[in-house]
Amino acid sequence: MKILISDAFDKSLPAKLARFGEVFDDHSRLPEADVVLVRSKTKCTKEYIDGAPNLKLIIRGGVGLDNVDLEYAKTKNIAVHNTPAASSVAVAELAMAFLVALPNNLIPGHVTMSKGEWAKKELKRTELFQKTLGLIGIGRIAQEVAKRAAAFDMKVIAYDKYVDKSDVAEMVDFDTLLAQSDFISLHIPFTPETSKMINAETIGKMKNGVVIVNTGRGKCIEENDLADALKNGKVKAYGTDVYYSDPPDWDNCPLLKKDVPNVYMTPHIGASSSENLLRIGDIVEETISKFAKEN
Ligand code: NAD
Repeated sequence: MKILISDAFDKSLPAKLARFGEVFDDHSRLPEADVVLVRSKTKCTKEYIDGAPNLKLIIRGGVGLDNVDLEYAKTKNIAVHNTPAASSVAVAELAMAFLVALPNNLIPGHVTMSKGEWAKKELKRTELFQKTLGLIGIGRIAQEVAKRAAAFDMKVIAYDKYVDKSDVAEMVDFDTLLAQSDFISLHIPFTPETSKMINAETIGKMKNGVVIVNTGRGKCIEENDLADALKNGKVKAYGTDVYYSDPPDWDNCPLLKKDVPNVYMTPHIGASSSENLLRIGDIVEETISKFAKEN
């Protein structure tokens, strides 16, 4: 079996997979590959798949499969797997990091200090204690966020179109979530239904000064509308790990414009904890082992 490691995985992975055959990371050898391992960077489009005539298995180390043309892979009898359960804690901890950093002004505090400015009077903090956190989606990641938010004594409510019961959050309808939340954290996949779900109309239903965190998918938010809401103060701050594209369109992304305040960003690193990369590597190994036995 020939295995192409196309994106960044834990450095222990090639040794773990060596028992299955030859493992390489040279993209020019795609035509030889039986198995391709991707994370977010490699886009398994029709053209990519056509460039790999031996391909039998694609494994995406991560949750979403939006970078794989699933329909086309199916027509070519290529099995596609992901590692959905591995990343929940890693992404939940990043969402919590935003939820702690933003109301505490950690980033402006650091930036002003590093410029030699003493902004003690300007930088007021807000507590999470007894505030309402609204989770959009109550899947694997959101449940981990809910447990952590409960430790801060937050009231946790959630809206999920396909789930009506939860042990960790009070389930509410979408409008109630928008109206009651002091903090909103997005944990939905990108689908036609969730596309631009946060827009001028839904932002208009939120509390003034709401803080929004997005470790889900960038395209669930209409960035132009969010930029307007940040400028007029309706939304107090936006913390995001995700964009319309990876990386964002540096010249045209509305959230990157200098006059849009209080946007705090990370470069899609939700799943990139070292522990998670090890977990993903273990699941990749199990998946290939099962695939090798069955084929
Ligand atoms: P999950 O499938 O366990 O949970 C998603 C939840 O969203 C489900 O409960 C589902 O019912 C709900 N949902 C789907 N459509 C909805 C809609 N229209 N309205 C309301 N709820 C809806 O997934 P998960 O493991 O919790 O991951 C959530 C998302 O996080 C992924 O789809 C992915 O986009 C994103 N993610 C980001 C990173 C990162 O690096 N930042 C890493 C992993 C996952």
